[in-house]
Amino acid sequence: MASRYLEPKLERAARATMARLQLRRLREQVTHAARHSPFYRARLREARVEAAKVRTLDDLRRLPFTTKDELKQDQLEHPPWGRLLAVPLADVTRVHLTSATTGRPLAFLDTARDWYGFYHSYARSLYAFGVRRDDMVMAAFSYGPWIGYWSGFYAAQDLGCLVYPVGGLSTEQRLDALLTYPITVLGCTPSYALFLAEAAARRGVDLAKDTKLRITWHTGEPGASIPATKARIESAFGARAYDLPGLTEIAAWGFECDARSGLTHVHEDYVYPEVLDEAGRPVKPGERGELVFTSLYRKAMPLLRYRTRDVVQLADRRCPCGRTLVAFEGGVLARLDDMKKVRGVIVYPRRVEELVRAHRHVDEFQIVFRRRDGLDDILVRLDPSPALAVAERAGLGDTLARELQLGLGIRITVEVGEPGCLPRWDHKARRVTDERTEVPF
Ligand SMILES: [Zn+2]
Repeated sequence: MASRYLEPKLERAARATMARLQLRRLREQVTHAARHSPFYRARLREARVEAAKVRTLDDLRRLPFTTKDELKQDQLEHPPWGRLLAVPLADVTRVHLTSATTGRPLAFLDTARDWYGFYHSYARSLYAFGVRRDDMVMAAFSYGPWIGYWSGFYAAQDLGCLVYPVGGLSTEQRLDALLTYPITVLGCTPSYALFLAEAAARRGVDLAKDTKLRITWHTGEPGASIPATKARIESAFGARAYDLPGLTEIAAWGFECDARSGLTHVHEDYVYPEVLDEAGRPVKPGERGELVFTSLYRKAMPLLRYRTRDVVQLADRRCPCGRTLVAFEGGVLARLDDMKKVRGVIVYPRRVEELVRAHRHVDEFQIVFRRRDGLDDILVRLDPSPALAVAERAGLGDTLARELQLGLGIRITVEVGEPGCLPRWDHKARRVTDERTEVPF
């Protein structure tokens, strides 16, 4: 049987071997950042940390955190690349923009070697999903300065796959390609997978029967790690769906494997993960905290202790696949920036998605945080499937209102509209609005 690992020596390394490799790379990165990045030279001086004194992995905790806001500020004050840049611009071969919801996006630069690290670790993830060189791959991400398309494309090519470039194609053209060519693997955001499935259904195309797809992978949003969303994608495509969490500034850092155990492995030879509680202390296995990454491979913009704002749960069990890489339970569980407080209760939109997606007669949904009669309130709007009888819509709304109240511990208003009433998302979805922040109090 062919190996299930692309790089078994790294993926199954003994803890001491991995720790040695991490420490060597960490020291290299800290020294490089301190010497060549004006941003970090100043930060480390302020924190009174000498690079040479970082001698163990635990010493990393003496370094200050880095936040995205600081990086944005750095680029604003020192346009266009900021003082983070730690190599001559002539050594840089790639620029990627983060997808910003507010303000100017962050521009992130890579040397050719940095870029290889990004897509090669990504290729390891694809391999763990079961993608092999005889697969034909479609990376259905947007063509442009965002990393999703390029990294998916290069990673598949790194495995020797035939890659069909569809960055600039319409959904209709992509559907045609899926029907015409022996494409076996599809990568896209989970929102786009559902969008594509709806477009196919409208055309009378059964993706499960009419295409050769056997694997889909999803990144850009955590949808494929939400069981109900994953199940919906798998049934629409007749393929196995995998979650691939990543960050432009860090790496395509994690992957589910073909054991499908609910664990997300981390490429910890590329990125050193810390999972920290609110006080900044490492959590124990089984506990949740904020994920903080130190890049062990990128030289153009070498991030140290970067706060991802993602909440993960450190696994307290081994994956049956045999990998020894650190793993998280269920991917990214929440974004700290998405957290909402409603009448004293903490609500994460992901939890709403978990409950709503379990209903096959909901095609799309929207969450509105609002104020009603002086009280905070959550409205969940549902876009019902055309297959649901009109007489049953009210029943669907009542059921979901009950389930949401039970699941979130707070009363939720549910509205069921007409089929097609809500916007669809062909990239990353924006299903949440908070009207409360728009009202001056
Ligand atoms: Zn595994």
